[in-house]
Amino acid sequence: MSCIFCKIIDGSIPSTAVYEDELCYAFADLHPQAPVHVLVAPREHIASVDDTDQSDGLLLGHLLWAASEVAREKGLAKGYRLVVNAGEDGGQTVDHLHVHLLGGRPLTWPPG
Ligand code: AMP
Ligand code: ZN
Repeated sequence: MSCIFCKIIDGSIPSTAVYEDELCYAFADLHPQAPVHVLVAPREHIASVDDTDQSDGLLLGHLLWAASEVAREKGLAKGYRLVVNAGEDGGQTVDHLHVHLLGGRPLTWPPG
């Protein structure tokens, strides 16, 4: 198994856990782009949102809910952004599905 996020989830690579349950694991991004930058990843290895189908809908919804729960726990009452990068043009660099939670500062739009 060579996936870095699978290794983070199984504990063989250290990370700073923020939230976890039976379906997902949330941890601090190593190179934060905002005061709060958390990644929410499914425990199951799914390479990309582009590799999901309708049967993954509950899991995908759970990832969004978990990210919003972390946002509430982090006190991001002024708002935040959830991002899923997919593929080369989407800027995805780790091929294990994850939701970025970014907050703690005003975020510009559109993203680069
Ligand atoms: P993406 O570019 O959407 O695939 O996002 C990958 C994210 O993973 C980037 O924001 C990286 O900073 C982050 N990252 C890479 N390696 C680690 C690691 N070992 N621990 C925490 N975050 C990481
Ligand atoms: Zn993986």
